Amino acid sequence: MQALRLLEIGQPLAAAETAVPTPGDGEVLVHIAAAGICHSDAHYRRGDSPTGSLPLTLGHEVAGRVAELGKGVTSLEPGARVALDYLVTCGSCEFCARGARQFCPQGKMIGKHRDGGFAEFIVVPAENAIAVPDAVPLDAAALMMCSSSTSLHALERARLAQGESVAVFGAGGLGMSAIQLARILGAGPVFAIDIDAERLQTAEQLGAVPIDATRCDPLDVLMHHTDSRGVDVALELIGLAHTMQQAVQVLAVHGRAALVGITPAAFPVRPYDELLNKEAEILGVSDHLASDLPRLLDWAATGELDFSPVIRQRIPLVADAANAALDRLQSHGSGLRTVIVQDTEEV
Ligand SMILES: [Zn+2]
Ligand SMILES: [Zn+2]
Repeated sequence: MQALRLLEIGQPLAAAETAVPTPGDGEVLVHIAAAGICHSDAHYRRGDSPTGSLPLTLGHEVAGRVAELGKGVTSLEPGARVALDYLVTCGSCEFCARGARQFCPQGKMIGKHRDGGFAEFIVVPAENAIAVPDAVPLDAAALMMCSSSTSLHALERARLAQGESVAVFGAGGLGMSAIQLARILGAGPVFAIDIDAERLQTAEQLGAVPIDATRCDPLDVLMHHTDSRGVDVALELIGLAHTMQQAVQVLAVHGRAALVGITPAAFPVRPYDELLNKEAEILGVSDHLASDLPRLLDWAATGELDFSPVIRQRIPLVADAANAALDRLQSHGSGLRTVIVQDTEEV
């Protein structure tokens, strides 16, 4: 089968012919229909984030149809439309037992630690294959496994309650999901802060108040919109120390800042003014919960979660096109999401 593989850190992905994997006990073989190209893939290609041994097939946002069942699998039928939970875990450790599989010491992420979805087929444990309702296109389902699931987990970590205001720093792939999910969960006003006019326009279409950080100080504007109260929930989805600091500074009394973006940089916090005196909280967010995935697919089936404004480009399983999409993500281009679609009839 064809696969787009990382052969060497810092080099473009290369097309390679590899063997179709065989499902073992409890596993399924999935014929991939759609695989999202994510900002994380650009980090893996560049070596910013350590991957498993090379060569490695990237791609962790994956959906398709079950092609073959391994021994003992009774939960799925061949032909079933599925999207893949990218975290493959032991299922028996302390973290797996308490529903926090992202901390499983044996955990492996598809497309990072083991071969992923930029290929024709993939093998995963059957419990990682989540049924996709007929109303949900497989390309949208693929993206939901990463950006929407992380955004939902962030809003849950931040304990978003009915009517609360939300500031979303970064209106890219994660932000577009976060805006829609905040509204689904009953948020009051949702503000989207970004520096890209096209992304802000999409955010506004999705019901957010757009704030262009190239034209104003977002803190001033957020304070103005909230009568100097601040926001209840701030999500930092970019991974910049500066916007993390803003997410903390903009909090109201009892506000929660959920940090999702990744950076090794530090940012200053004034504990008395910014935390103690407001009883504000800073929360870390990592990945998602398996239980979130079927909820997301249900919201997509009813149309409440809509990916049509987010998917900007569909490309075939071709190395040049995938590398060009990764280059755009790496240079923070404005294009929203690119999905590798192998059969347009199937998605
Ligand atoms: Zn992703
Ligand atoms: Zn475990």
